[in-house]
Amino acid sequence: MDPIQLAIAGVGKIVHDQHVPAIRGNAGYALAATASRNNSVEGVPAYKTMAEMLASDTRIDAISLCMPPQYRYEAARQAICAGKHVFLEKPPGATLSEVESLKALAAERGVTMLASWHSRHAPAVQVVKRHLQAHRPRRVRVIWREDVRHWHPDQEWIWQPGGLGVFDPGINALSIVTEILPEMIFLTKAALEVPANRQTPIAARLAFTDATGTEVEADFDWRQTGEQTWDIVIDTDGSHLHLKKGGHELWIDGAQYALAAEGEYPSLYRHFSQLIRGKSSDVDVAPLRHVADAFMLGQHIVTDAFV
Ligand code: NAP
Repeated sequence: MDPIQLAIAGVGKIVHDQHVPAIRGNAGYALAATASRNNSVEGVPAYKTMAEMLASDTRIDAISLCMPPQYRYEAARQAICAGKHVFLEKPPGATLSEVESLKALAAERGVTMLASWHSRHAPAVQVVKRHLQAHRPRRVRVIWREDVRHWHPDQEWIWQPGGLGVFDPGINALSIVTEILPEMIFLTKAALEVPANRQTPIAARLAFTDATGTEVEADFDWRQTGEQTWDIVIDTDGSHLHLKKGGHELWIDGAQYALAAEGEYPSLYRHFSQLIRGKSSDVDVAPLRHVADAFMLGQHIVTDAFV
């Protein structure tokens, strides 16, 4: 089958770390072009803007939009209007409504849109989802603690409105939780710690429940130095599950479970090509909706300035 001619817009950290290796490792894609003001990928035709790339004679079937969420809508709109399939990095936008606008536009133009959640492609996720269909979860604890200075050096956008602060990694945990739990959860309480000199939280504590009374707590913190923690601990009617390393390790009742080895982004790109070939879309905004709820319901606490 003819490979999908894929372009990337917004070349930065995640493109070099994950997208380029995943695309080059999948024979179903050819990396056709990039659109990025200051950056490019070696050996790939480079344009400065989406408009310039779309006006060129480079053949492009699909575009991955990897710039920060505040700057994604306009580029995505241009891509969809030009008839290109779109892969949105997480979070899919800066607001829920702009994502709905893009979803409607993609449906109208008959192109595929993927609101990607890479953490849902961690190998433990589908195993745990199946387990929780047979064992009712009672209590879920999410501990997502990392060092912002290590993971987001010089990224000012994460501290600006729409950048989500600690929810930038925290939304990955929420994407897993919303995928694995059998019932829809909703927020009941939240506390957001915002540095005195910034616009977005550096830490958040969240409590959720669902129609059956499941307790779900989340502790997101960007101030953790040393060992990093991306864990979800679940107690069910008859079992105890511990997802570690963002869903790359799984322990059930104290015994380690053997997981498949496929990486998150190779799996995501396989999913995207299946959507394109099947002429369908996948746009689930549940993780972003929970973040919006936290900003709406959460108590805002001013904390130490971030320097
Ligand atoms: P980044 O490196 O800070 O930004 C990516 C690129 O976006 C930049 O190199 C820049 O390229 C472009 N950009 C920056 N500001 C822009 C603006 N105002 N207008 C248009 N383009 C702009 O960010 P990143 O870490 O790759 O993250 C990008 C997205 O991927 C985010 O939504 C993030 O949540 C998600 N993500 C990141 C990671 C991670 O580990 N970093 C993991 C998973 C997902 P030019 O200057 O060349 O235009």
